[in-house]
Amino acid sequence: MTAYNAPIRDMLFVLREVGGLDRVAALPGNEEVSEDLVAAILEEAGKFAGDVLAPLNQPGDQQGCVCKDGVVTTPDGVRQAYAAFSENGWNAIAAPQEFGGQGLPALVATPVQEMWKAANMAFSLCPMLTLGAMNAIDHHGSQAQKALYLPNMVAGRWTGTMNLTEPQAGSDLAAVRTRAVPDGDAYRISGTKIFITWGENDVAENIIHLVLARLPDAPPGVKGISLFIVPKFLVNADGSLGARNDLVCASIEHKLGIHASPTAVMSFGEKGGAIGCLVGEANRGLEYMFTMMNHARLNVGLEGVAISERAYQKALSYAMDRVQGAPLGARAGDPIAYHPDVKRMLLDMKSRIEAMRALAYFAAGQMDVAHLSRDAAEARAAQALVDLLIPVVKGWCTESAVWIASTGIQVHGGMGFVEETGAAQHLRDARITTIYEGTTAIQANDLVGRKIARDGGAAAQALIALIEADMRNWAGSDVGALAKALETPLRHFGEAVEWIVRTHKAAPEKTAASAVAMLHLAGLTVGYWLLLRQAAAALKRKEAGEDPDFVKAKLAYASYYGAQVLPQAEPCFVSVVGGSGAITEFDPALMIR
Ligand SMILES: Cc1cc2nc3c(=O)[nH]c(=O)nc-3n(C[C@H](O)[C@H](O)[C@H](O)COP(=O)(O)OP(=O)(O)OC[C@H]3O[C@@H](n4cnc5c(N)ncnc54)[C@H](O)[C@@H]3O)c2cc1C
Repeated sequence: MTAYNAPIRDMLFVLREVGGLDRVAALPGNEEVSEDLVAAILEEAGKFAGDVLAPLNQPGDQQGCVCKDGVVTTPDGVRQAYAAFSENGWNAIAAPQEFGGQGLPALVATPVQEMWKAANMAFSLCPMLTLGAMNAIDHHGSQAQKALYLPNMVAGRWTGTMNLTEPQAGSDLAAVRTRAVPDGDAYRISGTKIFITWGENDVAENIIHLVLARLPDAPPGVKGISLFIVPKFLVNADGSLGARNDLVCASIEHKLGIHASPTAVMSFGEKGGAIGCLVGEANRGLEYMFTMMNHARLNVGLEGVAISERAYQKALSYAMDRVQGAPLGARAGDPIAYHPDVKRMLLDMKSRIEAMRALAYFAAGQMDVAHLSRDAAEARAAQALVDLLIPVVKGWCTESAVWIASTGIQVHGGMGFVEETGAAQHLRDARITTIYEGTTAIQANDLVGRKIARDGGAAAQALIALIEADMRNWAGSDVGALAKALETPLRHFGEAVEWIVRTHKAAPEKTAASAVAMLHLAGLTVGYWLLLRQAAAALKRKEAGEDPDFVKAKLAYASYYGAQVLPQAEPCFVSVVGGSGAITEFDPALMIR
């Protein structure tokens, strides 16, 4: 019932054929990365995900976390699983080598992280937030801060959190009010943070909170926010744990999903001020957060891929087992998977997942190239692609996950609506992914404002040129026939980019009203391009003796998506360029008259 089988074959295929594993392995610093090594890592990770994390997913959802007098207890088995996770070195794979990490490229870490998220999303948030906190300290902290905090975080003994949100400061972090008052070499932090993932827990000896706060003389708005390290237990100079800091978990939220992930209301400084140290320079906290945003958003987009995969595996297994009626065009006694409509739903789930995974891995590979390539032009081009695509990875993959998890329930019929089956948990868990780390609207605003309008559409046009080059190469082949379906959506994508560039400066409210439609148009279009890349690679491999069923399936997913999913780009295009007046000119006050 709770099984998860990591789709290692699909993952390796996408790593190689879309993510650019060869190129990433050839980048300076990645000398040890080889296909065999990556396959071995995925094999081991797949075992841990399937054997240890996945069986805890449903019981953890049912039991949830408990908070009593500031002490949080996670569901049965989570502490032991976390200890094993750390002992096996999984916290370290993407962590900096200097402090005990393995420093593996983003591309290699991505499928591993997908496995944790698919097996047990609530659990996976703990190492994900810890990695985010480690990266913040590594990129912006002093050498002394790195030496004091990172080794224990890499080893998993200490976990990390991101304390950004406050009741009045969610999407708009300029409204942060938490205060930091200088006190000798340190700062006294006071204020309330809400929704802090794994803000308090029983799996770690210490929790390293990264907290956004304002200094007394800070300018208002985004330019007056600083970043602080505020540990649960103060850390002595020799790394040993000192006194308990002045911070407490006031309560945990009762949520729709991810019940095994404690989401804490954190109260800092009730007894005079929690002691914290400044990271980097004063008033640059939000800027520092922005430097890590691409990784964080890639990771949440990946949650969309992962939950979708889990929901799909469950739906497929049920549909191949359940017999109900005689499927038209199949043999009597065949299971519901052979009903044309159930087949449609399974194909819909699977083909979208293949497109989403390809998009996420492609972005991860480009991140590595941008970070490590010594060819400045190549690195610049890769960074432009990453910046353009990250809001699409985050926004489109998570919105699609909600759709896919919901389809998973539909495949189960009534059993999908029943909690015991487990399909409903995937929809409940998926639902947060479109909200945290910037809602879909925030991603879409980023796409149209910062990523398309600001450079006059240059990055988007470069992407279009890349896709057109592939289409020219495929002309006349079997993939070329499939690629025909991309011609109109790609043209419309280009026209929508031009419309945004023309409109944004004079009427940003119009492009904002069209932004989510633009995000979907981008996701649907780029997703199909990357499915075609997979189809082309699969056909090439067929000539080299690849399993014909594997090739057949890849072609079938591209074919279904091109015929049934991609056409949804058309109404998105119409919404982008034509529909926003109906939104911008409407006054919501009319709704309450
Ligand atoms: C389970 C969970 C875990 C979380 N974990 C963390 C964490 O670890 N650390 C942390 O700091 N925070 C965390 N958060 C907070 C999360 O990042 C915020 O909830 C999120 O950023 C949205 O902010 P908000 O809830 O205040 O909603 P609001 O900002 O009030 O948004 C409400 C609605 O208005 C829309 N909206 C707001 N501004 C705009 C705009 N400019 N343009 C268009 N639409 C807009 C939004 O899209 C949304 O539909 C978590 C939240 C949850 C629920």
